[in-house]
Amino acid sequence: MMKVIKTVHEMQAFSHAQRTGGKRIALVPTMGYLHDGHISLLNEAKKQGDLLVMSLFVNPMQFGPKEDLAKYPRDFARDTMIAERAGTDIIFYPDAQEMYPGPFKTTVYVSDLSDILCGKTRPGHFQGVTTVVAKLFNVILPHTAIFGEKDFQQLVILRRMVKDLNVPVEIIGMPIIREPDGLAMSSRNTYLSVDDRHRAISISKGLSNALDAFHKGVRDDKKLREIVRNDIQSAGLREDYVEVVDETTLQPVHELSHTARIVTAAYAGNVRLIDNMALK
Ligand code: AMP
Repeated sequence: MMKVIKTVHEMQAFSHAQRTGGKRIALVPTMGYLHDGHISLLNEAKKQGDLLVMSLFVNPMQFGPKEDLAKYPRDFARDTMIAERAGTDIIFYPDAQEMYPGPFKTTVYVSDLSDILCGKTRPGHFQGVTTVVAKLFNVILPHTAIFGEKDFQQLVILRRMVKDLNVPVEIIGMPIIREPDGLAMSSRNTYLSVDDRHRAISISKGLSNALDAFHKGVRDDKKLREIVRNDIQSAGLREDYVEVVDETTLQPVHELSHTARIVTAAYAGNVRLIDNMALK
C-alpha cells in the first residue's frame, strides 16, 4: 500500500529507518499533475531502488512574482492513482508552511549555470530549484534521484550542485517523453489554447529538423539555430532563445566536435515552453 507522508519529521524518520534496514531509496521529485514523462521517471526509479519515494511539492521559491504559482495545475487524487499504479511506495506531500516555516535565510545557488538560458528570463528560478532539491535530499535521504532531460539546464545544475557539495546522491537523467506529434510533455501544456497547442508543434519540429541537418553534416551552430528559429517564428511563436551548448558547462558551442545540445525556449501566446535535443 502506498503511503502519503506530509511532515518533514515523519519522512526523515521513515527514510532513516529504511536506510538502517539496508533499503536503497530512489527519489523522483515532481510538482504533480503527472503525465507520461513523470511515469517514465517513476519506472526507472523502481529499477534503481527498493523503495520509491515521489515528492509532490509545487515549490513557491522557484516561481517569480509574475509567474504561474497560483494557477499551476493540481490534481492530488489523480496523481495519487497514477503514482500508485507506477509502484510508488511513498508520496512526500508537504505544504509550503512545512517546507518553509518561519524566517528562511539559506539558499543553494549554483553560480553562472543558473544565470544563463532560462535563468535570464527567470531570475531566481534555479536558485529556488537547487534549494528545494537540497532540502528534499536532506529530508528523504535518497541514494539516487531521477530527473528528466526535458529540463536539461536543471539537470546540469543539479549534477553540478551534487558534485560541488559532495552530496551522496546519484543523479540519473532520463530522456524526454513526447506527445505523438512531438511536443514535449509538460504539465504546463494544459495552459495552451487549441491554436497555440497546434503552433507549439513547431518547437520539436524545428529541433528535429536541426538534428536532421546535423546528421547530414551541418556543423555550424548558426545554421542549426537558424533552422529552429525559422520554424518557431513562422508558426507564430516568440523565441526566447535558441542555443547550441556544451552538455556540462552550458556554454555556447560553435564547432561541433563532441556531443552538444540544441536547447530552446519559446512563447506560444503567453505560455513559455522549453525543449532540447542532443546533437549526436
Ligand atoms: P515537474 O513536475 O514539471 O517539475 O517535473 C518533474 C520531473 O519530471 C523533472 O525531473 C522533469 O524534468 C521531469 N519531466 C517533466 N516533463 C518530462 C518529459 N516530457 N519527459 C521526461 N521527463 C519529464
